[in-house]
Amino acid sequence: MAKKILIVGGGLSGTIVANGLCRQLAHQMRQGAVSITVLGTSDKHLYQPGLLYVPFGRIREAELFREQKKVLDRRINFFIDPATHIDVEAKTVSTQSGRSFDYDYLVLATGSRIRPDAVPGMEEGAHWFYDLDGARKLRDALAAFEGGRIVVNVNAPHKCPVAPLEITFMLDEYFKARGLGDKVEITYTYPIGRLHALEPVGKWAVPEFQKLGIKSETFFNTKAVDPKAKKIESEEGVTLDYDLLITIPPHNGAEVIENSGLGKAGWVPTNPKTLHREGSDTVFVVGDTTNIPISKAGSTAHFEADTVVDNIASLITENRWARDYDGKVYCFIETGMNTGTYVWFNYTTPPNPGPPSQMIHWFKLAYNRLYWLSARGLL
Ligand SMILES: Cc1cc2nc3c(=O)[nH]c(=O)nc-3n(C[C@H](O)[C@H](O)[C@H](O)COP(=O)(O)OP(=O)(O)OC[C@H]3O[C@@H](n4cnc5c(N)ncnc54)[C@H](O)[C@@H]3O)c2cc1C
Repeated sequence: MAKKILIVGGGLSGTIVANGLCRQLAHQMRQGAVSITVLGTSDKHLYQPGLLYVPFGRIREAELFREQKKVLDRRINFFIDPATHIDVEAKTVSTQSGRSFDYDYLVLATGSRIRPDAVPGMEEGAHWFYDLDGARKLRDALAAFEGGRIVVNVNAPHKCPVAPLEITFMLDEYFKARGLGDKVEITYTYPIGRLHALEPVGKWAVPEFQKLGIKSETFFNTKAVDPKAKKIESEEGVTLDYDLLITIPPHNGAEVIENSGLGKAGWVPTNPKTLHREGSDTVFVVGDTTNIPISKAGSTAHFEADTVVDNIASLITENRWARDYDGKVYCFIETGMNTGTYVWFNYTTPPNPGPPSQMIHWFKLAYNRLYWLSARGLL
């Protein structure tokens, strides 16, 4: 009987896992001993990190998308048929079309989703750039903005933990370039007592903000937005007035995870080293959907996916465990329109951001273009 590998989610991590397994198990697939199936929600693959550049008109929308079929190896069975129920006892996944898929190995790669609706007034009163529609609206709002108070409001949990800092630095430079530097005041809010969840990054950001005159309000857990009065209020009792509110909305995992009883708010309890769903040795979890307390980022998804590929391939071909995930994450950080820095870290080594440079910004732009190779598992 062929071993069936089923991957739920055709975003970054699901795509890397599928393509990587296809390469490592090419021989077994040719013999009909292994099949790989991906269940997705769309025929398009969205390059999410590119959304950061949309509000500033710095990327063409066509660059954000590829046909999902073309990003996946041809040998993979791909269905645009979202999972509606995952039964890990019966080892089956039911889908929207009414089909049922059974599996020997299941990979949960359903990512995360923004929840601006979770905060009263946020949907009506705030802009965001975490989806294409939001990023387009923010682009129009920025173009029309002639000065005033901008609040960049960060809520947790959220993916790409450095994106709120990046947009703040980029906004500052964008308005200065438009000659509006002295007419725009930027205030950045963060839910804990520093500017970033990673302490070294939070410390690094303090002088960077001071240099640019960016204000901050820490311990700001958003309670409500009043779109009419243009005010945002925190659970801690602070109210800020704004002329333009840019939020990083709170996130949840996928509905199917929560509805199948696999994890509160859609986050799956995951072993941080083996990436098994806790208590299971046939269900793996990759990317944003894990509950591992590290950055929800594309690079995390990538390194986790590589680990899962090695382990499933080794288990099938040699009946042995290949390696554990070491918590590796690598993130570029835009510090303006033309400069950037980067951090890398893992479970034992903390991040250590260096001085920004134009060279690192170029590396980030180059890496952005290499995303499609990365999704194909070629990087
Ligand atoms: C503005 C922005 C900037 C970013 N910048 C960076 C960056 O510079 N560097 C970086 O490393 N990361 C960045 N990220 C984060 C990165 O894009 C995500 O962390 C990464 O895509 C996570 O991969 P994933 O596979 O877990 O989730 P996703 O890539 O989101 O894929 C999840 C997939 O699962 C699908 N799905 C959901 N429910 C179901 C279901 N029921 N059935 C089937 N499929 C389902 C979804 O439709 C989606 O296609 C950024 C994100 C944003 C929004």
